[in-house]
Amino acid sequence: MQALTNRSKVVSKKKMTFWEWIYLPAIVKGMSITLKHFFRKKATISYPEQQREFSQVYRGHHVLKRDEEGRERCTACGLCAVACPAEAITMIAAERKPGEEHLYREEKYAEVYEINMLRCIFCGDCEEACPKEAIFLTDRIVESEYERSPFVYGKNRLVEPLDPAKRIDISKRQTESVLKFKQNKRFAHNK
Ligand code: SF4
Ligand code: SF4
Repeated sequence: MQALTNRSKVVSKKKMTFWEWIYLPAIVKGMSITLKHFFRKKATISYPEQQREFSQVYRGHHVLKRDEEGRERCTACGLCAVACPAEAITMIAAERKPGEEHLYREEKYAEVYEINMLRCIFCGDCEEACPKEAIFLTDRIVESEYERSPFVYGKNRLVEPLDPAKRIDISKRQTESVLKFKQNKRFAHNK
């Protein structure tokens, strides 16, 4: 049969030599490789006890930000969901009622806001699309789970805490990210 590519190899079933038959040279060779690596610096770490430092531009677990007064910034406009290439974001909008001005910044807010972390590719398009600076990707990692359903994150896991001391700081990643973006743009422009 004609090969479709030139990558195919013809496998021959030739008779083993004496040294191949006794396996000893192969075992010694294997052990020497093992010994060589035994004294080398390990490439692996004992996660989660040890953790590597992430890049400043690492994009992980999203956060829905509050404003300076602790009100939710998201107005459920849906632009993040439209921009999402993985169709990972869903939401249900609701009208703010009188007396809820301290909870939601504008008349409309997201009653339900969900991100399916199994679909998300952490591209950051939702962050770019948001006109209210409400959603950001952070340096937190999405925790592993045994079931699929816990990967659908609701507002309970996305909205940052009310306590100002526990707010999620995204300023450093944003600064680094913006700088890198500008550098890349300049590089592309000069090409
Ligand atoms: S990071 Fe990308 S894939 Fe994930 S929710 Fe945002 S837009 Fe969708
Ligand atoms: S996170 Fe931003 S883009 Fe998404 S619905 Fe809320 S305000 Fe709109």
